[in-house]
Amino acid sequence: MVTSRVDRLLSAMGYGSRSEIARLARAGGIELDGVVLTDVAARVALSDDLPVRMSVGGQPLDPLPGMVILLNKPLGMTCSHKEDGPLVHDLLPDRWRRRRPPVSTVGRLDKQTSGLLLLTDDGDLLHRIISPRRHVRKTYRATLARPLTGREGEVFASGSLRLEGDEKPLAPAELQVISDREARLTITEGRYHQVRRMFAAVGNHVEALHRESVGALTLPADLAPGEWRLLGEDEVGLVF
Ligand code: URA
Repeated sequence: MVTSRVDRLLSAMGYGSRSEIARLARAGGIELDGVVLTDVAARVALSDDLPVRMSVGGQPLDPLPGMVILLNKPLGMTCSHKEDGPLVHDLLPDRWRRRRPPVSTVGRLDKQTSGLLLLTDDGDLLHRIISPRRHVRKTYRATLARPLTGREGEVFASGSLRLEGDEKPLAPAELQVISDREARLTITEGRYHQVRRMFAAVGNHVEALHRESVGALTLPADLAPGEWRLLGEDEVGLVF
């Protein structure tokens, strides 16, 4: 069983510096199993039930390191500090900005793309999901400026479509036509603006883009734009 000193754990989870945590403990602000914990050098087992058994400032402990968040990304929010505009991280509790390891988006969605976005503080998991070798399927619903011609499915499935500026052709992708200006596209890579560039390569233009699923994990219908929830281990398993 992995254990951690209380002050180290809480500091890594963004609750403050170790001296701030020691001060909070002296003031009676940390409890374990309903008993005030003053010795911040005490070790606790990082078990699933710890966030229920421990409280900080009267609130249950935040999720332990290793959390995975499913967010319905709204339009207009960015995944990267390098872009202008509000960050998707603004939708999460403030304290989580100070967590170490940091909470990062699993890949990126464009500012003007909505839908299923995962965030995690588990670097190994993040790299497994975005690794091109894993071929994780990502499905997008695209609304197009011009009617589909009927030839796009074959081009996208060919495995020989080369996007401008890229050396390697794209892996085969699956197109499902929904209506003359709407389609579902499933890709297994995560190249820059990939879906928009794929439709541009066949003479069209994406007007709206929404990610519906990653692997077999689908955006729940009851999760409104901007809302998020933690994923259980079984749900994370659906990604692969
Ligand atoms: N492809 C795009 O063009 N944009 C996204 O946000 C995701 C995939």
